[in-house]
Amino acid sequence: YALEIIREVLETLRIDGIFFNMGGYQVSDYSGNYYGICHCPACRRLFAEQFGADLPAAEDDADPVYRKYRLFKERTSAAYHRKLEQFIHSLRPDICVDRGYSLGSGFVRQESNTAIRRALPHWQYSGSDNTKWVVGSYPGFIASNTTVDFIDFPYRHVAVSPAQQSLRLAQSLANGGALDYYLIGRLDNHEDTTGYNDVKSVFEFHAEHEEFFRTLTPRARILLAKPRAVDDAEYRGWFRILTENHFPFDTIVPGVLAETDLSKYDLVVLPNAVFLSDAECRKIDEFVENGGAVVAVYESGVGSAEYEYRERNGLRSLPVTRVLEKRDAMSSSYLKLTDGFPARRLTGTSLVYLDGPYLYAEYETDATRHTWLIPPHMYGPPERCYYTEITEHPGLVVNRYGNGRVAYIPWLPGTLFHRQGYVNTPNFIADVLEGLLGIAPVGGTVSPMVEVNVLASSSPGATVVSLVNGSGHFGTTFYRPIPIASTTIEIATAAAPRSVRSLVHDCELTHDWADGKLTVAVENLGLFEFVVIE
Ligand SMILES: [Zn+2]
Repeated sequence: YALEIIREVLETLRIDGIFFNMGGYQVSDYSGNYYGICHCPACRRLFAEQFGADLPAAEDDADPVYRKYRLFKERTSAAYHRKLEQFIHSLRPDICVDRGYSLGSGFVRQESNTAIRRALPHWQYSGSDNTKWVVGSYPGFIASNTTVDFIDFPYRHVAVSPAQQSLRLAQSLANGGALDYYLIGRLDNHEDTTGYNDVKSVFEFHAEHEEFFRTLTPRARILLAKPRAVDDAEYRGWFRILTENHFPFDTIVPGVLAETDLSKYDLVVLPNAVFLSDAECRKIDEFVENGGAVVAVYESGVGSAEYEYRERNGLRSLPVTRVLEKRDAMSSSYLKLTDGFPARRLTGTSLVYLDGPYLYAEYETDATRHTWLIPPHMYGPPERCYYTEITEHPGLVVNRYGNGRVAYIPWLPGTLFHRQGYVNTPNFIADVLEGLLGIAPVGGTVSPMVEVNVLASSSPGATVVSLVNGSGHFGTTFYRPIPIASTTIEIATAAAPRSVRSLVHDCELTHDWADGKLTVAVENLGLFEFVVIE
């Protein structure tokens, strides 16, 4: 009935756009009851036709038939969505279609939401994350990430913290997205209006500068590739590491990497991107050959986009020659820094702690090994708390390939940081990026709690540095951010600017330019700022 319902909507209502969700292969209902995967006659027949097998009984990535089922869901859902897009377009070519990728333009509507039983930590970059992948992957589409007013389905009438909503909206704007707000019911008789003022103030700011935001596009030199069909932990850890060390970056979704122009990037990060297509692997290899830098984490490239494991890693540029063993339990292990490791942030220690899995491997002989693995050992009682062995297995291997370099990491630093949050991990990674790969972050005195992005706007023609103050995120609660009286940013610009302005305070900002480096004093940073450099 979907087509009939959509036809009725399009023919009877005056609408500008259309969004629909919850189609496809739902496995749970609104009460959270789990029903498992669909075994209806249509699914059975189609799966047998396409893959010559019976449907898998359960969702289990270790089961090769289930991995085929993933593919089945992807292909049939995409085909169904294309059919809807074309149907809508045939009736109303003038309206915006959610995820109408076959139409070349439209919008992508997503939610920054919470759920009462969702595992912690809260994803504090939800607004940034949901915006980045849209503007990074689909430049013709508007990123419409909504702040969901309510706490969860069973609590539709009470709002999350007001500051949580305005933070999500600020993150959307700061990454080149649009604004979106969603509650169930009507604004005029809604019982919990606590979010209204904060939400309204961001919408008003956006309305005042509509033309500026309409033409705002990212100008990052780093690409963080979202992996296929693996959990988000490694990706989110890298998202935090890059953000909190002020390395501006884009993200893209699987499937568009092979068509993306990588020449605009200096660095591509593969955060345990296990499943990559042959074309994506070739694209990465060519990027390195042409002088780019790649960080490849753990099992990146071992599987195909059809979820098959390859005999040999699909990435030719990796320094790994042979995988020896995958060890899952590495509790009580460390990496010992090698002499000459460019420790700028990781000072006052010679150890990086390692938990989770580690891949024992052999490497090309001319690749450079950095940090040595101290394997699991005794950690108690106190008199037996010492290690006796430093192996020659590395925690990081860097090799040259063509004109570029690959840094391979045989463990999961992002996953560790995402869950535990100790600065030991990001200090190590940021030193690798800057000291070993020569990738420069935005400098200055900005707090790690402030997200920094570099963008461009054609109205006016300007480089834009956006800042979002996330200092109100405190434990599991989001309060209003602590105002920052004064902070400086340093970025490279080819020439001295004519003007450096604050969009929020509508005034010139004190700045200094010398030897290709622009230093700007940002005053009175509240929730966000847009520094406009002309
Ligand atoms: Zn079915």
